[in-house]
Amino acid sequence: AVPLVVAISTAVSAQNGLLIRNRTAFENSRKITTIIFDKTGTLTKGSHEVAEVVVFEVGISEREMLRLAAGVEQHSEHYIAQGILRKAKELHIEVPASEDFNYLPGKGLEGMVGNQDVKVVGPNYLQEFKVEVPANKAEEGVETAVYILIDKKPVGYIKLRDQIREESAEAIAVLKKNGIKNLLLTGDNERVAKSVSEHLKMDGYLANVLPHQKQEKIKELQAQNEFVAMTGDGVNDAPALAQADVGIAVGSGTDVAAETADIILVNSNPKDIASLILFGKATYRKMI
Ligand code: ADP
Ligand code: MG
Repeated sequence: AVPLVVAISTAVSAQNGLLIRNRTAFENSRKITTIIFDKTGTLTKGSHEVAEVVVFEVGISEREMLRLAAGVEQHSEHYIAQGILRKAKELHIEVPASEDFNYLPGKGLEGMVGNQDVKVVGPNYLQEFKVEVPANKAEEGVETAVYILIDKKPVGYIKLRDQIREESAEAIAVLKKNGIKNLLLTGDNERVAKSVSEHLKMDGYLANVLPHQKQEKIKELQAQNEFVAMTGDGVNDAPALAQADVGIAVGSGTDVAAETADIILVNSNPKDIASLILFGKATYRKMI
């Protein structure tokens, strides 16, 4: 039989926007000492509006570059892909078919559009393969640029703008007040990570973290006796969600995340994480 307190807890958690998939993990949420936050789609909305399309090369139009990028991005579920595809649709660009699609975790993707090798990649890819690009106008706030390479040659970039969720700062403040450490872990660049972390007054951040490194970082903290919760949307952070002592997925994320996570934030509201912690503590007190 389900104890009364637990049954009531389930109802109350539903009211607080929490869907509990793993009761043990939920009960353990009172033990959490550190919460790792994925940036995109969790602390930010993942809105990714295309803010700018810039070509370096004469001989290719902005429209054509966007068309080729959309051709490969149609295979990705990342917010960047969604933003690029929305822009293409808005401009009535017909998205071409692409083949030999290859996803480069935490770096971008590539594929063939007709006989052209098209890559859409982040700055970390450029660094790794020593691709030189003309100086980019400084980005600000939560802006991310992806670069388009055609037949390995950089032809331009698309800048996308995300927004920090209004509720994120409050969520962080409640966690801090309850002595829970918080850390931003993102595959995005240093500048964006720093800007989000400072804006939300977080305890710290790590940028340019590849998906498998997120999982390793959690293991590392666990080895230091931290009881770790991870929140993410599951766009490539499912292994980290699984590794964490408590895996929390935002509701608007992927199906993979929903399957891996212990708890789902139905309303994608980071503030509900704070409710979870406080609520977990209160429930436990009632049970003993
Ligand atoms: P986050 O930690 O913000 O969720 P990800 O690990 O999902 O970051 O992505 C890290 C970086 O990899 C992005 O900032 C971008 O540079 C690159 N990237 C990921 N997916 C794509 C994509 N579909 N198209 C282009 N670049 C991508
Ligand atoms: Mg992510």
